[in-house]
Amino acid sequence: DYTHFDDVLRFWAKKRPDQTALDQDGRTTSYRDLDQNTRRIIALFADHGIGKGDRVAWLGKNSDLYCQLYMASARLGVVVAPVGWRLAPPEIGYILKDTGAKLVFAGEEFVDIAKRVALTLDTKPTVIGEMEARAAIAAQTPAEDYAKADPTDPVLQLYTSGTTGNPKGVMLSNANLFALRNPGNAANLPWNHYQPDDCMLAAMPCAHIGGTGLINIAIANGIRCRVEAEFNPLGVLEAIEQGATHMFIVPAALQMVVQHPRAAETDFSNMRYLLYGAAPMPLELLKEVVRTMPDTGVMQVYGMTETTGTVTHLPPDDHSIDGNERMRSAGKAVPGVEIEVRGSDGKAAPLGEIGEICVRSPTNMSGYWNLPEATTSTIDPDGWLHTGDAAIMDADGYVYIQDRIKDMIITGGENVYPAEVESAIYGHPAIAEVAVIGIPSEKWGEEVKACVVCKPGHELDPNDVIAYARERVAPFKTPKSVDVIAEMPRNPSGKILRRQLRAPYWEGQE
Ligand code: ATP
Ligand code: MG
Repeated sequence: DYTHFDDVLRFWAKKRPDQTALDQDGRTTSYRDLDQNTRRIIALFADHGIGKGDRVAWLGKNSDLYCQLYMASARLGVVVAPVGWRLAPPEIGYILKDTGAKLVFAGEEFVDIAKRVALTLDTKPTVIGEMEARAAIAAQTPAEDYAKADPTDPVLQLYTSGTTGNPKGVMLSNANLFALRNPGNAANLPWNHYQPDDCMLAAMPCAHIGGTGLINIAIANGIRCRVEAEFNPLGVLEAIEQGATHMFIVPAALQMVVQHPRAAETDFSNMRYLLYGAAPMPLELLKEVVRTMPDTGVMQVYGMTETTGTVTHLPPDDHSIDGNERMRSAGKAVPGVEIEVRGSDGKAAPLGEIGEICVRSPTNMSGYWNLPEATTSTIDPDGWLHTGDAAIMDADGYVYIQDRIKDMIITGGENVYPAEVESAIYGHPAIAEVAVIGIPSEKWGEEVKACVVCKPGHELDPNDVIAYARERVAPFKTPKSVDVIAEMPRNPSGKILRRQLRAPYWEGQE
């Protein structure tokens, strides 16, 4: 049973010294080298006066260097904050400033922007480019004597995706990172058992829990982690052909993978488990995925940065495609996690009624960095974390996510959850993507609007979309208007930014 990166790295360095831990474009790092290199980074930190509780940032794509900075930090209790490279410069500036990092490591192509931002910060952080960092690390002697982090010290600061507002820094500790899903307490679930020749594909951005969390699971289990600098569908298909056995991917990315021309020729039988989640999964797409990879254990996960990722899962067995209602569910609590759906009175909602998903889990964050009020309003004194997600629970404990509470539309006194309307409209043959929002209405308070992206080669008549929805959802949920847009605004985690679609309609009104 491991509860700490320091123990995990020592353990695998002894047990599987020559096994590949990290593999990026064929550049491999063995478990022996991973142990030694992270000790070198600890020595480098000491040279820069960086110790327990200090922040360092990473601005770059997924990289084996980042993985090692992360694990070195976790051994020691330094806090590493990976920053999403797809963000716009002011957003990067916002996060870098918030971290208060003393050292910023930057991928070569991000050194300029990191330096520009650093100049504007009072903390005047030192920026080290990736090549310079690799050389400086190689020149160090691996540290032997250092005080390792306490299990509950924050070691990783991940920013939320910024879907509902500004990203918030979530502080996670070794205790959070290893509480569930490590070999010592895998609760005997088959997908938590890894074979030595398994290979985890880390293709989602490391600035999010779906990226760094996967790297974490791979190393905890002593297997190979194949690090992809950034997601691209062909790269994923090639990695699968080359032996990747596990991956996590968001629905928007999965759609690109299964709809890629190469998918038809790809042998998916290597892939033992495919996890998807982080955003609603359209049912039609899910059926296509299951049909494309019949030998793969396809599994939905639900969770958030604040819960170190997965807290509910929909096991492969619940993915039979013949009209199974369960396929619409995000699954049930993973062992070791308590889930409750609570009504607005704060009490458990009756089964089948909508409420807020609340989570009590050893993976719950200790809090948000610099946001004490947001922390206390999110985690109550009994340790329950309020997710802001609305859901229904059935008698077997399966949750059906309706939507974000913040995105609920109140129209003529009725509550409308956009996701329900979206999934009805998604079946329309000419629609590639859809987002439903509320816009101001004198008559109804708010009224429902659908924003749709047309499939290439098709045409869309807004009235046809309205008629299509009308046949599938109640009149008050049916869009009153439709905007056909060229591209769906999404954040780097693949989530639709409804707030961006709403903004022009609400200017000066909120
Ligand atoms: P912010 O908190 O800054 O608004 P965010 O909530 O998108 O951004 P993350 O922590 O990356 O940031 O995402 C967690 C959220 O993702 C959950 O609260 C939920 O709304 C959504 N989510 C996660 N898994 C699923 C899933 N399986 N199905 C539907 N939605 C999901
Ligand atoms: Mg959130």
